[in-house]
Amino acid sequence: MLLINKIPELLAPAGDIERLKTAVLYGADAVYIGGKQFSLRAKAINFTPDDMREGVIYAHERGVKVYVTVNIFAHNRDFEGLYDYLSFLNEIRVDAVIISDPGILSLVIEKLPNLNIHLSTQANVTNLYSAKFWEKHGAKRLNLARELSFNEIKQVREATKAEVEIFVHGALCISYSGRCFLSLYLTDRDANRGECAQPCRYHYRLEEKKRPGEFLPIEEDNRGAYIFHSKDMCLLRRLPELISIGIDSIKIEGRMKSPYYIASVVRLYRAALDFWKNRGITDNPKDDKLPDKFFDELKIIGTRSFTENFFDAPPTQKDMLYDRERVENDYVFTGVIEETGEDTLVKVKGKIKVDDYIEYMEKGLDIRSYRILSITDLNGNSMNEANPEQIVKIVTEPQMDNIEKNGVFRKKVA
Ligand code: SF4
Repeated sequence: MLLINKIPELLAPAGDIERLKTAVLYGADAVYIGGKQFSLRAKAINFTPDDMREGVIYAHERGVKVYVTVNIFAHNRDFEGLYDYLSFLNEIRVDAVIISDPGILSLVIEKLPNLNIHLSTQANVTNLYSAKFWEKHGAKRLNLARELSFNEIKQVREATKAEVEIFVHGALCISYSGRCFLSLYLTDRDANRGECAQPCRYHYRLEEKKRPGEFLPIEEDNRGAYIFHSKDMCLLRRLPELISIGIDSIKIEGRMKSPYYIASVVRLYRAALDFWKNRGITDNPKDDKLPDKFFDELKIIGTRSFTENFFDAPPTQKDMLYDRERVENDYVFTGVIEETGEDTLVKVKGKIKVDDYIEYMEKGLDIRSYRILSITDLNGNSMNEANPEQIVKIVTEPQMDNIEKNGVFRKKVA
């Protein structure tokens, strides 16, 4: 066994304050968030300035860092108001800004030198020379392009003193890390300004010009064909290799994703990092294996199936999901704990009924199963069922204890 000097930071997405609290509860070391302006994923729910201030205080009180995306490809007009925004981020003490545009980077270096700069994956660092360039120009951390193999990641790691961050989980672009005009052409929504409509995930049909309305069969199934549709990235299996080369941070994609997804993925990677921290890795980390229960949990998270992307070799057709939009799974998001104490208040996220069995997702990989005995609304009226976004009091068997605010429930279906 080798001693591990350093376990990477676990960096989680948070589209709003609710998701930030979920990520913190389930073990993130850091979260990345975006404001309403200057951020890709502009359509993510995103943070108002007040939410941001609250989120930073909440995270810092729990020892968690907050990074803010300012990663648009800026045009001249975008610089209006940008300095004020960056000053605000500096004032509320965010731990870094995530940038892809050299113009924005220069502004930070010149005017706000105390603000840490993390380079966004959109800057496409694909080689060690590029890494050294950005390091020299003030980037404290580099999020490498997702299109790198393990050996390339290792070479970059060895060549730079900047921190190295790697995406390990989440949706992939079929184009080069988001540099894509498909959405702009087809829907007039520009991915490079955070408005991607994800047309690479649409299902397409083929029509010959002289036969309008006659669709030629390119179907993999009777719903169509998903000709640009990548599986999701998952490097859970490869963590020992990333740890062995001293990666500083592993990042989960998905600021648009639900609190359930965030809870599920964050706790899985938290448990995996803790497992390797306690057990150590060998000098042949490729052979270090996580127990099966990690992969059983992984299967429960709703996905488009998984690929390790470029890690061993460039992806091929087997890394695409041509025949359907998603892989079915048996679990649905049911609710979030709104209040604990004498009464347990739950914000419902998927319909619940009396007599349903729901599962509370603990930190780590364990779950606790409860049967719902009664549901009551906030006026004390008894209900047989509750629908999404209602806040209700529930009584269960066994009685709930040791549950935490922002904890997540799921339910097995059929
Ligand atoms: S259309 Fe697909 S590939 Fe292009 S930016 Fe959007 S998600 Fe990425």
